[in-house]
Amino acid sequence: MENNEDKSKELNSSSVDNIEKVSSQDTKVSSLDTDVSQDKNPPEDECKPSLSVSIKWSGGVYPISIYDGMTVIEFKEAVYSETKVRPDKQKIVNLKCKGKPATDEMQMSSLGLRNNMKLMMVGSVDEVLAEAVAVPEDMPEVINDLDISEENITCVQNRQDYIEKIEKRVREYKPKLLNPMRPGKKLLVLDIDYTLFDHRSVGQNGLELMRPYLHHFLVSAYEDYDLAIWSATSMKWIEEKMRLLGVTSNPNYNICFYVDSLAMIRIDAPNYGVVEVKPLGVIWGKYSHYTSKNTIMFDDLRRNFLMNPQNGLKIKAFRNAHENRDTDVELLKLAVYLKDIAVLQDLSKLRHSKWENYRKGGY
Ligand SMILES: [Mg+2]
Repeated sequence: MENNEDKSKELNSSSVDNIEKVSSQDTKVSSLDTDVSQDKNPPEDECKPSLSVSIKWSGGVYPISIYDGMTVIEFKEAVYSETKVRPDKQKIVNLKCKGKPATDEMQMSSLGLRNNMKLMMVGSVDEVLAEAVAVPEDMPEVINDLDISEENITCVQNRQDYIEKIEKRVREYKPKLLNPMRPGKKLLVLDIDYTLFDHRSVGQNGLELMRPYLHHFLVSAYEDYDLAIWSATSMKWIEEKMRLLGVTSNPNYNICFYVDSLAMIRIDAPNYGVVEVKPLGVIWGKYSHYTSKNTIMFDDLRRNFLMNPQNGLKIKAFRNAHENRDTDVELLKLAVYLKDIAVLQDLSKLRHSKWENYRKGGY
């Protein structure tokens, strides 16, 4: 599998071959059909709640009114409208009847709840994540670029089990935070191998294998973007490579965080087969101020952004460093492109596959 290409070589000539396995408002207020003795269709404002409870979830408290005749599923739908956690994802502690979890058709009035009671909920924001991997409406060229049909890419992005994998990473994975995130900045996520340096060639030191203009590029990008590294290798190797390239010690920019192979997910993609990919939904789920609108990812492998193709820019691979280091100007040009697009409100509307044509006359 090509993704297991991540053999990381040390950057010095001793080149130890370490093969690392990548590795509605639709709250269904109960109908008042019990109140047949009076008006059969009373105005809505006569629909008074019988009691009020609160849902505690994810650091917030959400008041929910319980009406006469309300069933558990109707209650859950009311919770959904407040929290965006889908009913089938909600686990509401204390929503029990005789010690067993309440079923959807039960009446809320049968559960022994008291007024102003607080109920703890465990659940995830399914809708947010679904949105994070949603197919954009206007990206036919990108799809052609990926050489897979629109139907297939929809299939990849909406597969529920992939969303669940992303949710699990959001809950459990911890990026290595190095420097504070800066409010208002966009986010640039960078691959390392063949993007920032040629990890397969042998050199006396990191500088020989570094992609030309790397530091210039990072200094320039840092003005408008928080910088993150996402590499399909282990954290140990990311740290080592960044140190050898002099990225960690450069005083003119800061890397915000590192993400390693453990945050990747395995998907079965049309035309690719089973591959590990880098779903940006993990970052968006963990740090909500980063979104598909303000994030761009550079990688030399397109499949790494299969879950979010509208946010990926496939950079030309930097290989054979000794032959190409005098002529490779990708980072010089991309620094200008990043500067050009930094003013935009929504980066996901761009076709990054055509980045070289963004400026008339090219870069
Ligand atoms: Mg790479």
